[in-house]
Amino acid sequence: MHEDCMILLKDCGLRVDSGTDQLKTSAMGFPLDILYLRNGDIPEYLQDGVADIAILGENTVVEKGSRVSKLMSLGFSKCRLSIAVPQKSGYENIRFFEGKRIATSYPATLSRFLAKNGVKAEIHQISGSVEIAPHIGLADGICDLVSSGNTLFQNKLEEKDIILKSEACIYAHENLSNEKQQLLDQLLFRIRATLEARKNKYIVLNAPRSALDQIIQILPGIKSPTVLPLAIDGWCSIHSVIPEQQFWEVIGALKQAGAEGILVIPIEKMVS
Ligand code: AMP
Repeated sequence: MHEDCMILLKDCGLRVDSGTDQLKTSAMGFPLDILYLRNGDIPEYLQDGVADIAILGENTVVEKGSRVSKLMSLGFSKCRLSIAVPQKSGYENIRFFEGKRIATSYPATLSRFLAKNGVKAEIHQISGSVEIAPHIGLADGICDLVSSGNTLFQNKLEEKDIILKSEACIYAHENLSNEKQQLLDQLLFRIRATLEARKNKYIVLNAPRSALDQIIQILPGIKSPTVLPLAIDGWCSIHSVIPEQQFWEVIGALKQAGAEGILVIPIEKMVS
C-alpha cells in the first residue's frame, strides 16, 4: 500500500520523500505535509483532526469504528477479511465456531459478525502471523486478510466466509475548514484524473474507409472517435480511448474488421 500511495502521489504531480527515515515531510508541487504513521493509529489521528486526510484500507477504518468521511476508493490494496479453517474441518457455516476459538487481528469486526449470526465463540486477538494459530493449537480457525489466497494455501487453510471486502481509500476528517476543503478538492481532482487515465488506453489505427462504420461500432470511445484522412486514397487513421479492461477483446475485433498498424498509448491524465 505504501508503494502504491507513493506512486499515486507522484503521478498527481506531488514530489514526496518516501518516509524511510522520517515521520513527517512536506510535499513539493502541492501545499501538503505528509505524516507517516502506523496503519492502526491513523483512524484516530484523523478523527481527532491531527491529520486532515488519510489513505488507508477500509478494513482498518471498519475495525476501529472511527468517525471519518470516506471520499474515494483508490483501486489498490484490494483484499477481503475472511474466515478460514484447516482443510477437512467439516465447516458448513459460521455456526461451526459455536463454543470454539478464532484467532484474528480484527476482533471488533469479527465479534460484530459473530453477534449478527448469533454465534458465541472465543476470540483470540493476535497482532501478526494469524495463519499459524490453528497449527499451534491456539484456535480452531482464523479471521484474517486474504489477497491472493497464497498464505492460506501454504498453511493448509480454506477460506470459508468473507466478512468484508476492502481496498485503499481516501478518508477525511469530518469537519475541514473551507480553506482545507478547497485544497482537498484540488487534490481529489488530480487523483481522479490520474486514476481515470490508468483505466484507459489511447489507440491509433489505420483502416480502409470501407471498414470505418464497423470499426466505429466496435470502439467504446469517450464520445465518437477522431477520424483523419491518410495520404493513401480510401484509407483513414482512427483515434480513440478504450477501457483497459476491454482492451484485448477490442483489439482482436478491430483487427478482424480490417484495422492495421494499431498503436496503444498509455494516457497520463484524463479529465472528463
Ligand atoms: P495473500 O497470501 O496474498 O492472500 O496475503 C495474505 C497475507 O497478506 C495475510 O497475512 C494478510 O494479513 C496480508 N494482507 C493481504 N492483503 C492485505 C492488505 N490489503 N492490507 C494488509 N495486509 C494484507
